[in-house]
Amino acid sequence: MSLLAASNLRKTYVSGDARVAALAGVSFGLEAGDFVALMGPSGCGKSTLLHLCGAMDRPTAGQLLLLGRDLAALPDDELTHVRREQVGFVFQFFNLLPTLTIADNIALPSLLAGVKPAEADRRTRELAGRVGITHRLDHYPQQVSGGEMQRAAIARALAHQPALLVADEPTGNLDSDNGARVLALLVELNREMGVTILLATHSADVAAAATRVLRMKDGTFA
Ligand code: ADP
Repeated sequence: MSLLAASNLRKTYVSGDARVAALAGVSFGLEAGDFVALMGPSGCGKSTLLHLCGAMDRPTAGQLLLLGRDLAALPDDELTHVRREQVGFVFQFFNLLPTLTIADNIALPSLLAGVKPAEADRRTRELAGRVGITHRLDHYPQQVSGGEMQRAAIARALAHQPALLVADEPTGNLDSDNGARVLALLVELNREMGVTILLATHSADVAAAATRVLRMKDGTFA
């Protein structure tokens, strides 16, 4: 069974009389251990596709199987459940909660998924070591660099051991040094821990590190 199988996915946004066909029939699959980069001009539908694959939104039509369950057909509470248990999401602007320490940011999804505090703490320390931010655990996000925030966000995304890591331009807001470190971390997580990664990027370096590149244009694969 594929980790993810999308067939003829469509997403149309409606606001007032305006309709935007953000995805116009997209089919693809992901196997466990894949590292796939979506590329294409702004507005071509990359974020929309990531949101659907990350169980953050539903397609207007089509089928989207994640570990055999059709996300398009799940009620809201089950979709939330899938998102919390099976998906880790990394954003361009990190989206760490400013009032929580780095440690508490990393632990939060595990706690929401019902992991006991002692176990969440153990995972937080282990992942912080892996992403190289152990020395920042007691700091608040605004006290650390952008690269450290993104490495913390990656640890947070992995803390509940999701089946799929989804990342929307994870190096898009970083300088080249920090971007290279975050990319090296993603490659290491994919190769050494077998983390399955689906990301969107404008960076040729990130695309070159992926095992597969899918190019999008106008809501479909180019
Ligand atoms: P990309 O990530 O490649 O820049 P997006 O998936 O963000 O592309 O956007 C695809 C298209 O859908 C664009 O035309 C965008 O303006 C539109 N769009 C995205 N999100 C929404 C929304 N919530 N409401 C209406 N239109 C949207």
